[in-house]
Amino acid sequence: MPASQLPVISPQRCTVCGDCVACCPVDCLWLHQNAQVVVVPHTCVGCAVCAAVCPANAIAMRVQDW
Ligand code: SF4
Ligand code: SF4
Repeated sequence: MPASQLPVISPQRCTVCGDCVACCPVDCLWLHQNAQVVVVPHTCVGCAVCAAVCPANAIAMRVQDW
């Protein structure tokens, strides 16, 4: 069952600090080539912890219309 909401990361705001990657409880965020955060959507549980910890306010949770 996919999550009801998924994170959307703003590349303009993201400083690639890695905090969201470190805090995701299901390890579904990755730092791609140390330049971009990537979400693996089918393992995300929609908890929004990543959005809460992001110091740059770069993560918005988008409700999914499955
Ligand atoms: S919403 Fe939760 S599970 Fe999904 S990427 Fe963020 S921290 Fe991970
Ligand atoms: S916590 Fe925010 S600023 Fe840091 S890598 Fe994640 S999205 Fe980018």
